[in-house]
Amino acid sequence: MFEILHQSKKSPARVGKIHTPHGVIDTPNFVAVGTNGTIKALDNTMVTEIGLQLMFCNTYHLLLQPGTKVIKEAGGLHRFINRDLPIITDSGGFQVFSLAYGSVANELKGRGNKQSGNLVMKINEEGVLFRSYRDGSKVLLTPESSVEAQKDLGADIIIPFDELPPYHIKNDALKVSLARTHRWEKRSLDAHLRKRAGQAMYAVIHGGIDLDLRKQSCETLTKLDFDGFAIGGSMGKNKEEMHSILNHTLPLLPKEKPNHLLGIGDIESIDLGVALGIDTFDSSYPTRAARHGVALSWHGPVKLTRAENANTFRPIDEKCSCPTCKNFSLAYLHHLFKAKELSALSLASIHNLHFMVDYMADIREKIAADII
Ligand SMILES: [Zn+2]
Repeated sequence: MFEILHQSKKSPARVGKIHTPHGVIDTPNFVAVGTNGTIKALDNTMVTEIGLQLMFCNTYHLLLQPGTKVIKEAGGLHRFINRDLPIITDSGGFQVFSLAYGSVANELKGRGNKQSGNLVMKINEEGVLFRSYRDGSKVLLTPESSVEAQKDLGADIIIPFDELPPYHIKNDALKVSLARTHRWEKRSLDAHLRKRAGQAMYAVIHGGIDLDLRKQSCETLTKLDFDGFAIGGSMGKNKEEMHSILNHTLPLLPKEKPNHLLGIGDIESIDLGVALGIDTFDSSYPTRAARHGVALSWHGPVKLTRAENANTFRPIDEKCSCPTCKNFSLAYLHHLFKAKELSALSLASIHNLHFMVDYMADIREKIAADII
């Protein structure tokens, strides 16, 4: 259930609450990515302490290791990873098609993904047959098997199986792909509705950078009984294209249902997306940046390994209440990164995720005050 607490008078931004079986998600919010049921370098008790209300786990990875049946046997994903707060899982489609076509980012840089491309053996109306990168076994992922896997995991929010077409796709091929994605999403929804089990399912709006196809995708999917709408597929090669796609797509979605921007959550994109009415964003950006020694701050990114930090005996941010800033100085973090100590990765990740929690709380206050 989604409730809107405040609609900004200045923009389409809104403050709301998503109610799930594992508690409330205040929106707009940032969703941390825990691909394998863990946020890299952190354990789930710390993630809860940081205050991250929603965590994103990847069905594709959990399906291959340890297997969704093991997680079901453990009592579901929440119990297996010891997280009492909401979880969202994806369908596996994104990863499997990234294997087939290469990621959009690599494609734009002219680097395909030829090495792993041969892992995908067959794509047809039924689904995708591929080889596990772990043990070479054959796996068939279909709308029905993806939903079954997500039922075994038991996340609060689940995603229908979709096709992720490559960025450089001919328009005719994109139309064919979109029609199949819509058929797959309908099959996923039917499989989900046979046993709802307290889970919500968000449709994924596709159409790439073609605004007419984005409109067609909204019209098709909003007619079905989805609980929310995720925006996926290619969002273009720069922020202008993304702005144009979101500005065009969001007004076509029902205001009373929550929406999510898939896989994008850097600060600039969050600022842009919130003002257009996006409710949640998932991204591995803050934790990846942390592992590369970059701390997020209100004054922009701080490179922890810069020489000047070697004898700076204050925390990353004196006002930050995270465990890292309460206990350790920049000089110590600089030293840990230089000495290649694993605790450096954890401490920087804790700060960056805590920063995202603070940043989103600040955004919600600004919307409530009609500043955004
Ligand atoms: Zn901090």
